[in-house]
Amino acid sequence: MKFGGTSVADIARIRVVAQHVKREVDAGHEVAVVVSAMSGKTNELVAWTRDASPMHDAREYDAVVASGEQVTAGLLAIALQHIGIDARSWQGWQIPIRTDNAHGAARITDIDGSELVRRFGLGQVAVIAGFQGLGPDNRIATLGRGGSDTSAVAIAAAVKADRCDIYTDVDGVYTTDPRIEPKARRLNRISFEEMLEMASLGAKVLQVRSVELAMVHKVRTFVRSSFEDPHAPGMGDFDNPPGTLICDEDEIVEQQVVTGIAYAKDEAQISLRRVSDRPGVAAGIFMPLAEANINVDMIVQNISEDGSRTDMTFTVPAGDLDKARLVLDQIQKDVGIDVVQSEGNMAKISVIGIGMRSHAGVAASAFKALADRGINIRAITTSEIKISILIDAAYTELAVRTLHSVYGLDKH
Ligand code: ASP
Ligand code: MG
Repeated sequence: MKFGGTSVADIARIRVVAQHVKREVDAGHEVAVVVSAMSGKTNELVAWTRDASPMHDAREYDAVVASGEQVTAGLLAIALQHIGIDARSWQGWQIPIRTDNAHGAARITDIDGSELVRRFGLGQVAVIAGFQGLGPDNRIATLGRGGSDTSAVAIAAAVKADRCDIYTDVDGVYTTDPRIEPKARRLNRISFEEMLEMASLGAKVLQVRSVELAMVHKVRTFVRSSFEDPHAPGMGDFDNPPGTLICDEDEIVEQQVVTGIAYAKDEAQISLRRVSDRPGVAAGIFMPLAEANINVDMIVQNISEDGSRTDMTFTVPAGDLDKARLVLDQIQKDVGIDVVQSEGNMAKISVIGIGMRSHAGVAASAFKALADRGINIRAITTSEIKISILIDAAYTELAVRTLHSVYGLDKH
């Protein structure tokens, strides 16, 4: 069971979390709980480290920001003991959760779950601080913002849990953002692959890495609400509680062609005109961008008419546009780019569904629907289970609603 920041925002909320845990313990389950810091806490700690010095040592940053989870783990263990449940808190280093050396964005390399499992056998609940582990330098390392989700999935894999339940402030994964489309529906099930696309594209329910990890280790992951009454009817139904199950596609029987519509605002488009067309040009452009840590997406290159010059378009996060332009200025001459054009205020709308693999015409209906609304498409990329379309950000809401309805996702 994993509880995020809003679910442990104060002592009253922590008491509610203790009741969710009690419900599962009373039903005879062995439980490990992973907690985030109280909501807002990590932001505050991060701000303090910047305040102390803008150029701080990442290892000390980790020592500071990991403390939020230490507090909530202890508090939840106290709240559980208070209602008669045997529980103890664990810091990442005590288990230990081993990570690599990338302080501030470390990856988990190994978890020894044996002591946790031994204590489950004695009836003890483990309350584990999320977001943190122990680096090879023997110092605390944190997993990147939102990393408690990844802690939870990794621990579930390490103790071979039946399931990893992520309790949060929404009651599941929706066909699209309900703030944009009130007719969005909660999905009963979504495949790992689809969820990975949704999470990468801005559905902020889960940290992207946690979904990758769940997919690799086949950890069935359940997104559900911590704000419901812990003892409401159905909440304790182990096989079918309210929420969304993220699972292998084999487990999804009634497969729709399209599962969801995701969007990412704050994209910028860069177009390179009349680029010389010879081997090594793409590498000459994208290597320097990668070295500058700029995440490039949606690369579209045209086939040149006469074999000498071609056009190339790609997107970067809007916040990286200035940096990207600087990099391109430096290489423009050597690579042979005639003109660099760019535009901020773009949005990427994506249609996602594993059913696309076996259905024709999915992309065509998206293009037709957008055309009917007068929305101009600037670039298109596709994968087996996704179509992404770049448009002016001003049309984001309209495009999301249009596509949601075209693929029959609207709630009736
Ligand atoms: N507390 C950390 C954060 O705010 C980790 C998490 O909540 O998942 O990013
Ligand atoms: Mg989170």
